Amino acid sequence: MSSIIKRRHDSCDILFRYAELLGLGEIHIKMDKATGLKAIIAVHSIKRGPALGGCRLLTYKSAARAIEDALRLSSMMSFKAAICNLPHGGAKAVLIKPKVIKDRQAYFEKFGEFVNELGGMYITAVDSGTELSDMDYVAHKTSYVTCTTTDGDPAPYTAIGVRRGIEAAVSFKLGKDTLSGIRVAIQGAGHVGYELAKQLTERGAILTVCDTHPLSAERCAKEFAAQVCSPETIYDQDVDVFAPCALGAILKRSTIKRLKATIVAGSANNQLAHNRHGRTLQKYGILYAPDFVVNSGGLIQASVSYRHGNVEAAHEQINNIYEVLLEIFKRSAKEKLPTTDIADAIALERLR
Ligand code: NAD
Repeated sequence: MSSIIKRRHDSCDILFRYAELLGLGEIHIKMDKATGLKAIIAVHSIKRGPALGGCRLLTYKSAARAIEDALRLSSMMSFKAAICNLPHGGAKAVLIKPKVIKDRQAYFEKFGEFVNELGGMYITAVDSGTELSDMDYVAHKTSYVTCTTTDGDPAPYTAIGVRRGIEAAVSFKLGKDTLSGIRVAIQGAGHVGYELAKQLTERGAILTVCDTHPLSAERCAKEFAAQVCSPETIYDQDVDVFAPCALGAILKRSTIKRLKATIVAGSANNQLAHNRHGRTLQKYGILYAPDFVVNSGGLIQASVSYRHGNVEAAHEQINNIYEVLLEIFKRSAKEKLPTTDIADAIALERLR
């Protein structure tokens, strides 16, 4: 066997081992030459109901990386649905972005056919790189879709959940029942970060914002009198709360050591570079709001909108993120375990 083929076989074995480790149910792959579609749907669990999870369209260094991303994110979606007590399992679709999408409508309709072939096991939604209008195209071919232009953008709902999470953390850690005067550093002023900045300002918080896209940060400076810092110095800001709303894997020993904030609560998925950093944060006296709990507002909106055809019932459940987190913080303090361990344990119990 040539070494290249052997390496490929090895990476397949690694992916299967990873899938096993995560307790994954199914991995589906579809390719379509005419549209350029290369899609992976990883369904982690359908035990609690049909698996719901976004569809991301990104460039990947390799197909193995794309599959890995789908596996990891699908497992997180199961945890997220379980912690929110939603009647869903977790799944994720990853579309490997081609150099050019000649016909976006045909591309997403083909993806819609793929989703439909799974017979309702998977419900798709918007995610990084996809737009509500793409979900409209998907809806031409399947009813197993939410976050269309009719359903609306989940980001504002995610931001409400994050703000509720910050309120819970501020109450628990700092003993304050208001955000007035609380200093928050927001990493990433995109869809969620901007909405969060708006809500925090309305409640009297003082903001520092950074974004690799300067105009996004400047917009917050203009509209919310936020101070702007460089993306490199966001970890060093003298604030009460650090809110990661850009990228995953940003919390590692080197960045945690730099934090002056005693609370970390933000929307980014998979914030910890490694699970063990839940304990690192605890060791440094930092209260961490587990990402899949604090950023679940968007999933709640998507689920409610899919099941009820409107988002009215989502508000109460998103507000309840406050109570869910407070319970996690209390148990973490009592059992002297990282908040991540407590949140994982609650979700796992519900997935069993
Ligand atoms: P977005 O792409 O609209 O915003 C991300 C922002 O971060 C962009 O403005 C980008 O320029 C900026 N950014 C990128 N790298 C950066 C860096 N190194 N430093 C500072 N800024 C940087 O995405 P979004 O929808 O706002 O989501 C933000 C995060 O929250 C993502 O990790 C996403 O997966 C997660 N999330 C979003 C939702 C949702 O409803 N949109 C739900 C759950 C989780």
